[in-house]
Amino acid sequence: DEDKPHLNLALIGHVDHGKSTLVGRLLYETGNVPEHVIEEYKKEAEEKGKSTFEFAWVMDELSEERERGLTIDIAHKRFDTDSYYFTIVDCPGHRDFVKNMITGASQADAAVLVVDASEGVMPQTKEHVYLSKTLGIDQMIVAVNKMDKVDWDENKYEQVESEIDELLKRIGYKPGDIQYVPISALEGGNIAEPADTSPWYDGPNLLEELDNLKKPEEPVDLPLRIPIQDVYSISGIGTVPVGRVETGKIKPEEEVRFEPSGKTGEVKSIEMHHEEVPEAGPGDNIGFNIRGVGKDEIQRGDVAGHTDNPPTVVDEFTAQIIVLSHPSAITAGYTPVFHAHTSQVACTITEILQKKDPKTGEVKEENPDFIKQGDSAVVKVKPQRPLVIEKLKEIPQLGRFAIRDMGQTVATGAVMDLKEKE
Ligand code: GDP
Repeated sequence: DEDKPHLNLALIGHVDHGKSTLVGRLLYETGNVPEHVIEEYKKEAEEKGKSTFEFAWVMDELSEERERGLTIDIAHKRFDTDSYYFTIVDCPGHRDFVKNMITGASQADAAVLVVDASEGVMPQTKEHVYLSKTLGIDQMIVAVNKMDKVDWDENKYEQVESEIDELLKRIGYKPGDIQYVPISALEGGNIAEPADTSPWYDGPNLLEELDNLKKPEEPVDLPLRIPIQDVYSISGIGTVPVGRVETGKIKPEEEVRFEPSGKTGEVKSIEMHHEEVPEAGPGDNIGFNIRGVGKDEIQRGDVAGHTDNPPTVVDEFTAQIIVLSHPSAITAGYTPVFHAHTSQVACTITEILQKKDPKTGEVKEENPDFIKQGDSAVVKVKPQRPLVIEKLKEIPQLGRFAIRDMGQTVATGAVMDLKEKE
């Protein structure tokens, strides 16, 4: 039913640990593989003498993709449980992963970490977990996969579980936000039903764990942020800034602060579609009459927030960027215009800290001399004028920017960390 809340789910984990197989299995168990596809593969599996048709379906899809030299496209597949609609978002390893992650196309609410029980923690396991934490994905379900390969050995499961637990806690995950399930994506144990091969496990199956995830924080529960588009002075009324509420709620009589201008005033009234409203929230385009602030004291590019949690003015910030289009090389000292919400400010890339693999997010080079088109990097940025921007993991709606130069978008990025202006 359409009323269920929607969750974006990332499937992460080392190559070959079973992510694609698990996606196939989840779609199959939730009835999201079209009947004709099941029929087709059933027939084909019988012809080829394979044991189960879903096995054939997944394997065939995999081998075909591999022959064509493509990464398996598991992005944007949908399924639902009793409580949620899930969309599987782009995952590490896919061509445009880092780009999608930075632009928000891959913003996941929770992750399923797939770990091969016979291999345990591998390099990409660590990388993906680290990346997830950086992006603010706080809930993690660990699917200890291929349990059939280790004969559903309880000791093996516990060993892998403690190895991963140690990793996740070191990276900063809280015990209450991590769940473990022993599964076989290939054979189907503990996905939709308990596996009779694991009598020692009496916890929820994978679909139940997915159903138990916490609802993600709604933009309305975040601090108030309204990037200002224009400021009017209306005779008989006064100063009226106009903008779209990105996060939080605004009501008359509240005290708001405009940054970087640093002016504070009281909200007298709020208008939406030429009508006065008692409050406004995310997505609303509003004009609000403000007492105590002159038209010339604030401007486009300012952001309004409550005085007790005002917008962050940065001295410098660290960002992940991806270079979309640049004719030569970007080096430290480059000063293009950064576009963030409604502001445009020249900013200097003062340091290039790391060059990363745009597919996996893996560090390729520390302190490179330059970056080029197609590269993903972690950079330090110093705005030339005061700028409001927020950490991606705190207020994602204000944590992204585009870099423009020579009439085109050179790069896009997201704020990982920042230093506030004194
Ligand atoms: P990905 O690279 O993480 O997407 O991994 P794949 O889904 O492509 O799986 C890699 C290989 O592991 C394939 O040959 C799968 O058939 C196999 N595989 C996946 N899940 C299981 C499982 O639960 N048990 C066993 N025995 N093999 C599995």
